[in-house]
Amino acid sequence: MRHHRFQPAFERTSVSIAGVVEEVRARWFPEVAAPVPVFFATHDPLACAITHDRELAFPAVYYHQVLNHPETPVEVLRFIAKHELIHFVVLPRQRGRFLDPHPPEFWEREDEIAPEARLAWAWIWANLHTCLKSRARLRSPKVTRAWHGLEFASRLPWEAAELQMYLQEADDRSPRRWRRRKAVPLRRGAARPQARQARLFA
Ligand SMILES: [Zn+2]
Repeated sequence: MRHHRFQPAFERTSVSIAGVVEEVRARWFPEVAAPVPVFFATHDPLACAITHDRELAFPAVYYHQVLNHPETPVEVLRFIAKHELIHFVVLPRQRGRFLDPHPPEFWEREDEIAPEARLAWAWIWANLHTCLKSRARLRSPKVTRAWHGLEFASRLPWEAAELQMYLQEADDRSPRRWRRRKAVPLRRGAARPQARQARLFA
């Protein structure tokens, strides 16, 4: 698998992603003892974490190549670093036959350290929607091969007014709030206080 994941590509981002991940680890994850290696990948997830040694894979965080772009805001890279590092400290939980990678305590931790989650997801969907597909059960979008068409396209800046408009129109596109047919238990967004959401527009 490693050859499939590992992409020895030039970093095109405005900041070093490894630097961002290390900054996030040092500030919010005292439980993670050592710097976590970071790689680009072109397989399905927008980003992912390998949290334990596996055959042919060691603990690391992977960012999809579609994020390897000079206009990917540092805020988005940092938000993803927070999300992926939470996977190192909050383990998946068995729900029937499904191993849920995002149990409630995962989202609680994300709420604590990533108030920008909603805006970060708005940026991700506003800019990359042509190559993203929701995977409701995993609460994680899949990157389709259409990402090649976006590789050299421009991106909206983090402060773009369009982003606020997108957020108002498309509503919250965070994976945890993707609507499922009926499964209310996983959709915890309804209970979220309104005041907290309004703050992002300030
Ligand atoms: Zn996750």
